[in-house]
Amino acid sequence: MSRTEAGCGQMQIVACCPACDAGLPVDAAEAPAVIRCGRCGRDVALDVTDAVRSDAAVDRCPVCAGTDFYVRKDFDPSVGLAVVVAGAAISAVFYWFGRDLVAYGILAAAALIDLVVYQRLKDVTVCYRCHTEFRGAYRRAAPPFDLHTADVLEQEYERRIGRR
Ligand SMILES: [Zn+2]
Ligand SMILES: [Zn+2]
Repeated sequence: MSRTEAGCGQMQIVACCPACDAGLPVDAAEAPAVIRCGRCGRDVALDVTDAVRSDAAVDRCPVCAGTDFYVRKDFDPSVGLAVVVAGAAISAVFYWFGRDLVAYGILAAAALIDLVVYQRLKDVTVCYRCHTEFRGAYRRAAPPFDLHTADVLEQEYERRIGRR
């Protein structure tokens, strides 16, 4: 799945299908009242608030109407892994030729690049209940992920939509 880069004050929503958990990308500004899940065909009602539509804040989830969110790094783990693997491969070559210091230096550099990439990542806001994601220029107000909160709210949501 490709991700559209957020910009120009436009919020991107990846609505999470309540039936099959498929991620359904939607432009917040032009979000329709109902979208159809491309995987399972279920209609998913979207109730997008003005704040979400104008990329001001994430105040209420358009899918489950929940108001509990957390913020996490918008990180694609495969990118970081690729840097480390490439670094390890290059350093192995130097190690083979007896240049240990160079080898260790490259490994350290790869780890450093990883760290820098990680810190430059943008935050994404995620709905605790239904896992809908919000990307945009809005102000991040949600706290970091809390496992206990997630347990409680996910169970509440799944009972409500009849998946438990
Ligand atoms: Zn679905
Ligand atoms: Zn939600």
